[in-house]
Amino acid sequence: MKMHEYQAKELFRKFGIPVPQGLVARTAEEAFGATKEIMGPPWVVKAQIHAGGRGKGGGVRIAQTPEDVKKAAKAILETPLVTKQTGPEGRKVNQVLVEQGVEIDRELYLAVVIDRAKAMPVLIFSSAGGMEIEEVAEKTPELVLKQLIDPGTGWMPYHARTPAYSLDPLPDPDTLKDLMSLMANLYRAFIALDCSLAEINPLVVTKDGKLIALDAKINIDDNALVRQKDLKALEDPTEKDPLDYKAEKYNLNYIRLSGNIGAMVNGAGLAMATMDVIKLAGAEPANFLDVGGGASEEMVTRGLEIILEDENVKAILINIFGGILRCDVLARGVLAGAEKTAIKVPLIVRLEGTNVEEGRKILQESNLKFMVARDMVEAAEMVTAQVKKTA
Ligand code: ADP
Ligand code: MG
Repeated sequence: MKMHEYQAKELFRKFGIPVPQGLVARTAEEAFGATKEIMGPPWVVKAQIHAGGRGKGGGVRIAQTPEDVKKAAKAILETPLVTKQTGPEGRKVNQVLVEQGVEIDRELYLAVVIDRAKAMPVLIFSSAGGMEIEEVAEKTPELVLKQLIDPGTGWMPYHARTPAYSLDPLPDPDTLKDLMSLMANLYRAFIALDCSLAEINPLVVTKDGKLIALDAKINIDDNALVRQKDLKALEDPTEKDPLDYKAEKYNLNYIRLSGNIGAMVNGAGLAMATMDVIKLAGAEPANFLDVGGGASEEMVTRGLEIILEDENVKAILINIFGGILRCDVLARGVLAGAEKTAIKVPLIVRLEGTNVEEGRKILQESNLKFMVARDMVEAAEMVTAQVKKTA
């Protein structure tokens, strides 16, 4: 789960990580009003969306007067913000953060993420803050330092000392000490909040040697949300992909991918195998969709709706092995989905298992247009042939 910068900053504050003073505003007038309470000038007006690269896209603006804050907020709220991470259509901004402008002396990068290969949290630190870390890692990998933290033994002072003392030139002793305790605090937050990412870019050193997190990004591991109810409440549904949101609502395991074959499958293992055979046949899946071993008719209907709402889908493959989910239930779910949203792309069905005859009969007696595949390989080949034809 992603969250907004202002929410992440509030959490940082609780863990002793200094952040600028700031207030959220939903209108230009509110932004104007915020200047009465926030130190300034200058003020910085920042678009609150779940995407980075806002600075370069015009989503972070410096203002010298309350009037300019109002203008900046209006401009940001009025037009969708396009950044490297939003796609060309951009993202509508519903709120801005009005923040105290900080005098920057030095921009650093600090994050804790999971190193999946090592199965451990890793602290990432760089003297090249404020830039995209991926780019820094590519062009100047020597500037990106990594410090693995064994969660069994936990945090050790050297985890901070090693990266902090690599800075050249070294900051003042007090700043250095603050930096090391900030690193420990970020790790503490990362663990306590079940993060998959906690990132500060830039972490700045001000002209008077103070450390402040100017940006804040926290992602929570979705699997931990059951025990992080307070954090779950911070979720902003307007920021979610509408299809992801719908899938979550109906308990479907859905992941959007970049291909053009919409696949509806029951069971995660079969869904993975289906994606493999689609790829082997020379095409790319548009999604992973596991309606679940014991899906109801309604879930099948919703699953099909989600696939139909995805504009990238050029052909659909339904691959069901009827176990707990019976083939007749599946067939009725498909028909209900097709009734709501016309299926304008080729549909290939492969059904096996419990009540398969009845399932086939239901589909055949309907006015749904579809092709039947005998097995998975044939199904993948058929669906691939269909997308190749339309391409
Ligand atoms: P993004 O990463 O989405 O571009 P940031 O929050 O990192 O957004 O802001 C972009 C840049 O704007 C920062 O690198 C920093 O130079 C500047 N900036 C952001 N917030 C402030 C602030 N409160 N005071 C001064 N400069 C800021
Ligand atoms: Mg940033």
